[in-house]
Amino acid sequence: MSTQPLLHRYRSFLDLPSHTQIVTLSEGNTPLIPMPRLAEQLGGKFELYVKYEGLNPTGSFKDRGMTAAISEAVGRGAKTVICASTGNTAASAAAYAARAGLRAVVLIPQGKVAAGKLAGAVAYGAQVIQIEGSFDDALHLVVEICQRHPIALVNSLNPYRLEGQKTAAFEICDALGEAPDWLCLPVGNAGNITSYWMGFRQYDQVNQSGLPHVLGVQASGAAPLVLGHAVDHPETVATAIRIGRPARGEQALQAAEESGGRIIAVSDEQILAMQKTLACEGVWVEPASAAGLAGFASEVAAGRIQPKGKRIVAICTGHGLKDPDIVVKSMPAPQLLAVDLATLEEAILTP
Ligand SMILES: *Cc1c(COP(=O)(O)O)cnc(C)c1O
Repeated sequence: MSTQPLLHRYRSFLDLPSHTQIVTLSEGNTPLIPMPRLAEQLGGKFELYVKYEGLNPTGSFKDRGMTAAISEAVGRGAKTVICASTGNTAASAAAYAARAGLRAVVLIPQGKVAAGKLAGAVAYGAQVIQIEGSFDDALHLVVEICQRHPIALVNSLNPYRLEGQKTAAFEICDALGEAPDWLCLPVGNAGNITSYWMGFRQYDQVNQSGLPHVLGVQASGAAPLVLGHAVDHPETVATAIRIGRPARGEQALQAAEESGGRIIAVSDEQILAMQKTLACEGVWVEPASAAGLAGFASEVAAGRIQPKGKRIVAICTGHGLKDPDIVVKSMPAPQLLAVDLATLEEAILTP
């Protein structure tokens, strides 16, 4: 564990311009949590870890990239940053912009952003604009705006976002002493899978840490990389990966192929079931975050991955608190009792 800013700690591996001025909220350094009971449930005899990225300052891995993008933008004198977002990028951009004293504008698809993410963006003081369209429409608009005005784009099209996000791969290698055999993660706009692959390759060149097979997992209603074509109306409960035209799609496919892995899709039911399973292990993640492990479980069940004796790392990208509605909606209202000891005893002790 290190208290240095992430960008400092791994600076020799990060391609950031010399004008970069570090803006940090002590991101990164997230735990790699062993999951022995879950491994057993999935067939046993392998090491399973969850990299819990929901414990970053704004509750998702986006903070790793955002510290880099905002640090670069500040250093070159930007005053305003903008992004399109399914929610977590918005909250992260808003927080780091606030920290740096910049103005943040975030575009979100109408009605499709989880409550905890929207609240974050508002709390950190961003100007939040809803678009009567999808994430892909919002991304198209912010790219155009940045071509016309001196506004810094902090979506993962911004190369510094990917630089910052590589640090998660370095942390995994540092924690395990080498790369895992498989890395499983959700894929939306595909910046993160691209970053991990860049990071693992770079670390391997210097430290001989080896390379994982990469399993990228999309939601079946938003699976352009599995279908081989864009999806005009992506639909999934996993709003963070509800993306029909991934900006880094080509790179994601290449990462999967070069690593000897693949990109697959899982249903919303599989995602929600894995979200529940993880919560029963004490790790509550938002739905998209459960997709990587849901994909791994389905590959193992189908015999397409033989995990015996292997080390598996699943990336849980965001915290469950970001999207409480999904749990609240499906639960019965909590029991309501009178203030009475006997009634309470009965409620607790009757089987
Ligand atoms: C952004 C995000 C993703 C998808 O990451 P990409 O880089 O867009 O593929 C997955 N899960 C969560 C929680 C996210 O915020």
